[in-house]
Amino acid sequence: MTDELLGRHKAVLPDWLALYYADPLEITHGEGRHVWDAAGEKYLDFFGGILTTMTAHALPEVTKAVSEQAGRIVHSSTLYLNRPMVELAERIAQMSGIPDARVFFTTSGTEANDTALMLATTYRRSNQIMAMRNSYHGRSFSAVGITGNKGWSPTSLSPLQTLYVHGGVRTRGPYADLSDADFITACVADLEDLLGHGRPPAALIAEPIQGVGGFTSPPDGLYAAFREVLQRHGVLWIADEVQTGWGRTGDNFWGWQAHGQNGPPDILTFAKGIGNGMSIGGVVARSEVMNCLDSNSISTFGGTQITMAAGLANLNYLVEHDLQGNARRVGGLLIERLRAITAQIPAVKEVRGRGLMIGIELVKPGTDEANPEAASAVLEAARREGLLIGKGGGHNTSALRIAPPLSLTVAEAEEGADALERALRSIQ
Ligand code: PMP
Repeated sequence: MTDELLGRHKAVLPDWLALYYADPLEITHGEGRHVWDAAGEKYLDFFGGILTTMTAHALPEVTKAVSEQAGRIVHSSTLYLNRPMVELAERIAQMSGIPDARVFFTTSGTEANDTALMLATTYRRSNQIMAMRNSYHGRSFSAVGITGNKGWSPTSLSPLQTLYVHGGVRTRGPYADLSDADFITACVADLEDLLGHGRPPAALIAEPIQGVGGFTSPPDGLYAAFREVLQRHGVLWIADEVQTGWGRTGDNFWGWQAHGQNGPPDILTFAKGIGNGMSIGGVVARSEVMNCLDSNSISTFGGTQITMAAGLANLNYLVEHDLQGNARRVGGLLIERLRAITAQIPAVKEVRGRGLMIGIELVKPGTDEANPEAASAVLEAARREGLLIGKGGGHNTSALRIAPPLSLTVAEAEEGADALERALRSIQ
């Protein structure tokens, strides 16, 4: 059945869709932290949490809110007063940490970043953007133009001029061997150098922890140090929280908070799991920045009643069940366990991350060379062990990515760690 579907998929969809697995998987349903494929095989899902499913698959509270709203009304999100949109905007504005915040809802992370770029360039009257090397910000014309990871940037014809900054990755590269403090000093010097020539750009956009880039871990405080420099030059800071938001990093509700000494970002973007499967993206900005647009700008589907109902139910569940705390506790145990398991596996260079956002960097044994073949092999082997994980990284996708739904239990964390250990050992 899946073979037949694969043939039809290839015949009608673009070649550049990146399907996982040599024998691609058709997922047909899910519950909690588990999903099932078309053949009835069950998998523990260590990846869907960062994609669609922030809390749990088929969460009854979200299903109920969605079906009730679908049975009531779905209409233009912005032309008429929209109670669930106002309610979710109030919650997010308050949680964002941005003073005098305004919220605009979109349908994806790409569109959220696109809006952030439109706001920053309009507000600052500049088409120059600073972005991090190895970053990923989406697939629109403007988002690919600023995406540092050129494996995900299929056109170079962007209308924006982009300058790329060091600091998002420290696994390899010129500053990899420095201490945290020296790493920050070197990256700040790089930023100062870029800002030292000509008119300052509109904004720096950065993921506090790079997602597609392999769950990299810049030292805490890096973006706070950047912030001080940016403010001196009048440059805005856009935090792309599409992967790091909603408590996933455990210690903090937003990724920027690990870098918050010099205040919140000017603009924050979010998306992915907040709707637990319903498409929600959005932008939060100080009102002065949000309101710099002087003509109408609306979205038919951004913020519809049905997606907002899902977002509210999902956010309520997250807060009531303290899933941020769960990410800290269970994620902390999982990171420790994975470090212990992989200490004797020569293909593992490091286990990094925070909360339930964990990356495992694979190398060719005895070297520091990225090992994308091993990452693909472990992905396949983990599947055979009943575990779904992701992969990512810079131009070489040599990192495994672990990001389960935030309701992961300790027993499931242990089960997944055991499965991953067997998968890692099987490819040695
Ligand atoms: N920003 C980041 C950090 C992302 O990881 C992604 C998606 N991988 C996006 C933006 C784009 O989001 P979407 O796929 O919803 O357009």
